[in-house]
Amino acid sequence: ESLVDKTCKEDYALHPEQELRFEVEKGEYAKIQVLEGNAELFGTELIKQKPYFFNGGKGYGIFTWSSCKVRITGKTESAYISKDTPMVQYLNVSFAIEGLRKKAEEREDQVDNQGNPLDARGPRVMVVGGTDVGKTTLCRLLLNYGVRLGRRPVFIDLDVGQQSIGIPGSIGALMVERPADPVEGFDMKAPIVYHYGHTTPNANFKLYSALITRIQDLYNNKCHYNQKVHHSGCVINTCGWVNRKGYDTLLETAKTFEADVVLCLDAERLYQDLVRDLPDFVNIMLLKKSPGVLTRSKEQRREAREALIREYYDGPRGQFFPHSFDVPFDNIDIFKIGTPSLPNSALPIGTTMGDTETKLMSVAPSTDIMNHILAVSRAETVEEELTETNVSGFVVVKAVDEERRVMTVKSPAPHPLIGRYMLLSTLRYMD
Ligand code: ADP
Ligand code: MG
Repeated sequence: ESLVDKTCKEDYALHPEQELRFEVEKGEYAKIQVLEGNAELFGTELIKQKPYFFNGGKGYGIFTWSSCKVRITGKTESAYISKDTPMVQYLNVSFAIEGLRKKAEEREDQVDNQGNPLDARGPRVMVVGGTDVGKTTLCRLLLNYGVRLGRRPVFIDLDVGQQSIGIPGSIGALMVERPADPVEGFDMKAPIVYHYGHTTPNANFKLYSALITRIQDLYNNKCHYNQKVHHSGCVINTCGWVNRKGYDTLLETAKTFEADVVLCLDAERLYQDLVRDLPDFVNIMLLKKSPGVLTRSKEQRREAREALIREYYDGPRGQFFPHSFDVPFDNIDIFKIGTPSLPNSALPIGTTMGDTETKLMSVAPSTDIMNHILAVSRAETVEEELTETNVSGFVVVKAVDEERRVMTVKSPAPHPLIGRYMLLSTLRYMD
């Protein structure tokens, strides 16, 4: 409340199907209150009169199906009302997905004429498109609408560049049980996160596809034990890299997950290619991009990545208190996945590059790993597939004392760390 500039205050009256778009000034906060009517933010209903504090660096769109009055208190970069939104199209998609869930539910306990049980699997929805087309926002909207209808959809985020479940450089899955908090997003109490270590699938395709297979196994398993999750299906977010190998990765992901629905945001060419290359049973839809989606430069995308890591340690409102402590070298083992690429001629006879991409390499702690992110593996022994075991969290190396054989790390949780095995990321973070 004290961070909001109260001298800037404006009320906005929205008509049916209009959206109030705003961006808060960098480093500032703005208070939003719905004074009258019904409004939602990316599919989450806003509570009337309740103050919400939004910070800079992101774009927001408050939408109303009926009408509403909204007050913004604080400094904004921009704020305007638009009636040009793709929300009706998105709502129809959401209804179509719900229809598939109902069908899945009806198949439960039914048998075909040979007496075999019917597959009660819910829709597996994949969202694809270039960078900055609103993929993450569409996932959030679909998940929110799903959970508001009483479903338990699973969110799978495969975007290693702008990851929203783990931190950039990882991939994650999350069962959604309640709508996202307008400010803090989805409840992250029990996500499953895997270390990848790079910001693009390009850096290590073999590892990336191994992790996709792993996460889909895990999801199938969850469906096996939980009927509700099984019917509800999942929403899969993907990377914004859609050309050449990026495209091949999308095809592979669709195949691995046996996606039923592919939502293609604002990319006609990609849509045509997918129609040509994906099997007939896949329902592929070309959707409009919201004019409200912010376009980011390469530099802004890097900043957005940093902001995601900062949020992991400090909380979306800076309300967390990250811990810092010393870890003796003797208590940990650090590994890197994959050896540097070598030309085939330089490889030992009988091996191929593929063998080295998922190979574990021991890394001695040294000042070389300063500011690097380390994923703390849940593996208890090194014999467990370290590359394919999920992680409990991420620490940042703040100092390395080779003489005393200790390093200082920043961690979201207090000492002691849960695991001995750590995986080195190429990502660095400085606060
Ligand atoms: P992508 O995942 O394709 O990169 P995002 O969904 O992250 O795109 O959207 C990019 C930015 O635009 C985010 O800050 C998001 O909050 C913002 N944004 C998305 N939709 C809207 C909208 N309708 N109005 C205002 N800002 C929006
Ligand atoms: Mg995104």
